[in-house]
Amino acid sequence: MFVEPLFYQPKTSDQKKGTGWIEVICGSMFSGKTEELIRRLNRAVLAKQQVEIFKPAIDQRYHEENIVSHNDNFIRSTPVSVASEILLHVHKGEVVGIDEAQFFDDSIVEVSQKLAAQGTRVIIAGLDMDYLGKPFGPMPSLMAIAEFVTKVHAICMRCGGVASHSYRLADSDSTVLLGAQTQYEARCRRCFHEPPTTK
Ligand code: ZN
Repeated sequence: MFVEPLFYQPKTSDQKKGTGWIEVICGSMFSGKTEELIRRLNRAVLAKQQVEIFKPAIDQRYHEENIVSHNDNFIRSTPVSVASEILLHVHKGEVVGIDEAQFFDDSIVEVSQKLAAQGTRVIIAGLDMDYLGKPFGPMPSLMAIAEFVTKVHAICMRCGGVASHSYRLADSDSTVLLGAQTQYEARCRRCFHEPPTTK
């Protein structure tokens, strides 16, 4: 369980600019990255903090205005085409969530740095590895600059072990294959590298 850092101080009148920082939640598919992101954001909403979520517009699995509701509180999710758009949308957001960060361009790194520098708590969720087991997009850089990195794990759908890989069942060589979770399995390192068996 992630525990918020001790250096966080609530903003007071004589300390208008609190300390910002970057958190990364990474892992394979089916590891609960987004659930963990939502858990952290919902707690901020309950504390009446301003919260905004951004997703790459490439992710068409969700409707434009995806709403994560919790009682009367809700968090609006804004799809953006490029990472720099996030800076245009954030006004007084104390907490910014970024989901599916692996699909953003590299400028997401600079955008996150800028947000943190202006006192924003930035929480980023994304796949750390693609279906080939290679570091995914800007995720390695984001993990490097983050104050806190949480790696969550799925359960291997073959052997029940700890899964950190996303195995693609479908026959496609596109790095971006969306909208079909049935086309993937969470797998442990050993099962990920096993030669495919005929079913
Ligand atoms: Zn396994």
